[in-house]
Amino acid sequence: MSGPARTTHASTRAAVLDLIRAAGMISRVGLVNASGLTGGTISTVVRGLIDEGLVAETGHAESTGGKRRVMLQLNHFARYAVGVHLDDARITYVLTNLGGAVVARISRAGSGPDEAVVAKMAREVAALIDSVGVERDRILGLGLVAARPSALDEFGAALARATGLPVVLDNDATAAAIGEHWSGGVGATSTFAALHMGTGLGAGVVLGGTTHRGPSGHAGEIGHTCLDLDGPRCSCGARGCLEVLAGPGAVVAQARADRALSRAAGLVGGRTRVATPVAADFAAISRAARRGNARALALLERSARYLAVAARSLANVLDLEVLVLTGPSFAIAGSVYLPVLRAELEGAVGAHPVSVRLSPSAASASAIGAAAIVLQSELVPRQQGLQLPDDLAADEPPVFVR
Ligand SMILES: [Zn+2]
Repeated sequence: MSGPARTTHASTRAAVLDLIRAAGMISRVGLVNASGLTGGTISTVVRGLIDEGLVAETGHAESTGGKRRVMLQLNHFARYAVGVHLDDARITYVLTNLGGAVVARISRAGSGPDEAVVAKMAREVAALIDSVGVERDRILGLGLVAARPSALDEFGAALARATGLPVVLDNDATAAAIGEHWSGGVGATSTFAALHMGTGLGAGVVLGGTTHRGPSGHAGEIGHTCLDLDGPRCSCGARGCLEVLAGPGAVVAQARADRALSRAAGLVGGRTRVATPVAADFAAISRAARRGNARALALLERSARYLAVAARSLANVLDLEVLVLTGPSFAIAGSVYLPVLRAELEGAVGAHPVSVRLSPSAASASAIGAAAIVLQSELVPRQQGLQLPDDLAADEPPVFVR
C-alpha cells in the first residue's frame, strides 16, 4: 500500500475495510495505529461503512488504563460474489460471502466457452444464488476464470448480459493463488505460488502479498518450462516442456499405451462418447494407483518428479516461501504428488526449504479465487486496478478483462 497521505476518499474507505477484514476484529484506535490515518478520518470512514452495512460493531475489549474499546468486524453477510471456473472437463460455481467463505457450490460437466452454454450457465448461476436466498442487490459481481481468459471476451460479455452481473475475467491458476491468499491459508504478505493442475499445468504467483500477472497476463506458465532440450514437440511449439513430458495428457497417453494398465484401470481411451476422456482417464489412473496398481503409481510418480524439478526452479527463481497444490487433478492425485514435491522442495537441495501443501479445497480453488477477485475489486481496488461500479442495476453490465 502507498502512504495514507496520497490516498483518495474511495481508496481510504477500501484500505480501512481491508484492514478490518484482515484483522478479523479491530478497534478504531487499532485502525488509527495500523493505517496512519487520523482519528477523525477513521471515525468518519467507519461511520460510513457501518451505514452501508459492511461493518458491524461487536462487543468490547479491555484496553490499557481500564477503558473499554468497541470492536469492529466485517459483516460477512453484507455482500456476496459469484465465482465460475470454466475447465475443459467441468464448470464449477461457488457463491462466497464478503469474507470469502463458500456458502453455495455447484459443479457440472462442461464443454468449452460456447455461446450456446451462456443461457445454461445463467440458469445455473441463478439456481446457485436462489439456493441460499440472497437478494440480487447484495451480489457484487461474477468472476469467470479459465486457462485462456483472453479467449473469453465475447463469452464474458454475453454472460454479463444473461446474468445481469458485472463480469471479471482472469486466469484460473492466478485465481487459485488469490483464493488461497484471500481465505487466509497463507500469510497476508507471503511470497508463494499456487500450482494448478487440471488437464493442463499452470501456476499463480503472489509476491509479497501482491498478485503478479506479468505484462501479458502469462506469468507462472510453468507447464512450458523446458525439461528436455531434445524432448517431444509441445503444443506451444517448443520441445520438451513439462506439460508434454509429464502433464495429465502425457500420463494418460503413457497409460493408454500400456494394455495391461488400460484394462486394469478401465480407461475409456479415445472413445468419443466420453466428453472429456483425458480428465476421465487421469481420474481412473489415480484410482488404480490408490488401489495399489504399481504401474499406475509409477506413471504418476514419474509425472510428480518432473513437476517437482520444475517447481523447484520456480521456487529458486522467485524465492518462494510456500507452494500450494490446487486444481481438480491434484484433488484426485494429491496423495501421490504431495510427498514427491515435498521431498524435492522441503529437502532444500542447494536452496532454502519451501513449505508444500495441498489446498483443502483443491477442486474448487479457482472458482473460490474467481469470487475473491470480485471481492478484492470492492475492498482493495488500488491493488487490483479496477473498481466495480456502484450501480449494479445498469442495463449493460460491464466486463473487466484482466
Ligand atoms: Zn510447451
